[in-house]
Amino acid sequence: MLVDLRSDTVTKPSVGMLKAISSAKLGDDVFEEDPTIIKLEAMVAEMLGKESSLFFPSGTMANQVAIKTLSSPPGELICDKNSHVYLYESGGIAFNSGLSVKLLDGELGKVTAESVSAAINEDHVYLPESQIVSIENTHNRGGGSIYSMEELDSIVGVLKDTGIRFHLDGARLFNAVTESDYSASEFSRPFDTVSVCLSKGLGAPVGSVLAGSAANIRKARKLRKVMGGGMRQVGILGAACIYALENNIEKLKDDHIRAKHIAEAILNCSMIKSTLPVETNIIVAELKEGLKPDDILSKLRENNILSFAFGKNAIRMVTHLDLTDEMADHVSKVVRNL
Ligand SMILES: *Cc1c(COP(=O)(O)O)cnc(C)c1O
Repeated sequence: MLVDLRSDTVTKPSVGMLKAISSAKLGDDVFEEDPTIIKLEAMVAEMLGKESSLFFPSGTMANQVAIKTLSSPPGELICDKNSHVYLYESGGIAFNSGLSVKLLDGELGKVTAESVSAAINEDHVYLPESQIVSIENTHNRGGGSIYSMEELDSIVGVLKDTGIRFHLDGARLFNAVTESDYSASEFSRPFDTVSVCLSKGLGAPVGSVLAGSAANIRKARKLRKVMGGGMRQVGILGAACIYALENNIEKLKDDHIRAKHIAEAILNCSMIKSTLPVETNIIVAELKEGLKPDDILSKLRENNILSFAFGKNAIRMVTHLDLTDEMADHVSKVVRNL
């Protein structure tokens, strides 16, 4: 038994999902004739309370196209220093959109209205025009932290009447929804564009969706094409994503419960100093002084557990759909005894 906690992207399509894929109705999606993709895009637009949505092969492409859709260089994007759009998209903000980035020092990855307000440039010939604020909910490097609606509303208050656009990297938005009183559409309301991943906790093999106004999504469709992301009978992936939305959202709760159990156990591990608060399915555990991630990763590997180094003195574990209670118990037992 191998327990892979490196990411919630490691899941394989279930039997039910494979059946949905094999019976998908298909057409040419560059001609906008794939009925399964049309259905998926309508479904996600509805769930996120937006006019329109567009399927993407990755969350990175969805975010990058969103940023390009909402900006016109020269200009600047404002985000937390640990944002996926900045840290893990290979410099795409500069490469694709010609923007500079102003980084904020968020708390568990979350930025405040005050810090956003202070980061907005005044209209001056020297200064890049502030064009986009991008946030992440849940926040990956923040340990799966969730924004409250009050926090989002106060950022919206700062952006009101500035013309600055607001993008949500909602790769794990449904994890946030699962642990809060708000629906996906309520959480999406403040934003011009919202990206969601179906290939993370929801278990599809491939796929992200970007939602927004009809005009922005029309523009995004062209930008997706210019990046080589126009796909043909892509309903085979769309069918997996529809299956994921219909069957797997409610299972995120189990991922969160298992993450809490593992986190409790890991606090008893002699190599671990502390963890970030575990709000959803991500456990970020800081090592005791003098230890390196490899010291614990190699011990975990000896026990058939895969995890990830997270910087120089922490590891990350992510729970997901393919993790059973038996596997989670194995992890808890092993870490308690390290
Ligand atoms: C995974 C992830 C993405 C998108 O990643 P892809 O691998 O390109 O699909 C974007 N944002 C966050 C926060 C993520 O965790």
